Amino acid sequence: MRAVVFKGKNEVAFTDLPDPKPGPGDVVVEVKASGICHTDYEVLKDNYGTGAFPVVPGHEYAGVVVEVGSDVDTVSVGDRVAVDPNFECGSCRACQRDWAHLCETLGAYGVTTHGGFADLSLVRASNVHPVGDMSFSQAALAEPMGCVLNGVDAVHAPWMDEALIFGAGPMGLLMGLALRAEGVSQITFCDISDDRLELAASFDFDVVASGSASLKQWQHRADLSVEATGVPAVAAGLTSFIANGGKGLYFGVCPSDAKIDIAPFEIFRRQLTLAGSHSLNHNIPRSLEVIAGLGAHADKVVSHRLPLQNISQFLATSPPNNSLKVQWLRDK
Ligand SMILES: [Zn+2]
Ligand SMILES: [Zn+2]
Repeated sequence: MRAVVFKGKNEVAFTDLPDPKPGPGDVVVEVKASGICHTDYEVLKDNYGTGAFPVVPGHEYAGVVVEVGSDVDTVSVGDRVAVDPNFECGSCRACQRDWAHLCETLGAYGVTTHGGFADLSLVRASNVHPVGDMSFSQAALAEPMGCVLNGVDAVHAPWMDEALIFGAGPMGLLMGLALRAEGVSQITFCDISDDRLELAASFDFDVVASGSASLKQWQHRADLSVEATGVPAVAAGLTSFIANGGKGLYFGVCPSDAKIDIAPFEIFRRQLTLAGSHSLNHNIPRSLEVIAGLGAHADKVVSHRLPLQNISQFLATSPPNNSLKVQWLRDK
C-alpha cells in the first residue's frame, strides 16, 4: 500500500508498505479522507517525545472497513467509519477517572503507531465509529471536533453570551461553530490575517482585527476568551479580555518551552477561571452529531482536498498558504 512515512526526525517519505493484516480485535480501514493537523508537524520534529519512528502520520481520518479480525462482531466489512486515534492504558489514575486523553502512556494512531496517511490503516475495532451516510471529508473532521468539544466542556457555562476567539484557523472556526451550537449568541474572531477574518465573517461571526482600536474595546468584556493561535504573546494577553467572573481557554498549541506572565492578583480580584484542554475523550459519536448539524459550514472549514502525494509534500514542507484544514481525499 502507498503510505506517507515519517522515517525519522524531519524525514518524510512517500513510499510503499506491506498491507496490514488484522489480528484478533482489529479491523483494517481503507482510508478515504485524512486531515493534516499541526500535531503532525510536531511529531515529525519529535516534539512529542515518542520518537516512534518510522510512523505513518495522520490521526484525523475516516474510511471503509475492508477486513475484520477473528473475534470482531461490532463492525463489519463495508461499514463507513471514523477513527478515534487515541488508545489509553486503561489502568492509570487518569484512565480510572475515564480521562483517556490524559492517560500517562497515551498512544495514538498517527502519533505513536501507524495512522491515516496510507491506503490502509490497522486499528482496534473499538476505535471505529459508524458515520452513516456523512461524507468522508466531514467524517474526517470528527477527531478535531472531538478536541474542540473537549475544550468546550472544560469551560462552557449557560450564562455565557459573548465569546472572543483568537485565531480564525480551522480549529478556532470549529470552536466557534461548537460554541454557537451550545447557545453562545455572540462570537467574535480576532486574527492578524484579513483573509481569515473575511472567512470567519462568512460563517456569520463578528470579526475584529488584531491590534485594532476595536479590539481595545474588548478589555474585560468576554465571558469566554479562547486562545487558538498557539502564539505565546497572544496567550499572554488573554486574561485582559476576560470579563469579571469569566473564563479563558488555552486551546492553541504553544511551543512546549514557552512561558508567559500572569498576574495572580488579577485572577483573584476579577475571579477568572483559566483552563486548558488536550485532545479528545471518547466523544467521536457526539462530534459526528455536531458536524452533521453544521452541514455546509463544516465543509467550509476544509480548504484543500488533495491526492496523497501532495499531502506528503506539504508534510515535508509546510501547509499551503492561506489554508484551513487540508485533507487527503481519495478519488472514488
Ligand atoms: Zn490533531
Ligand atoms: Zn492510562
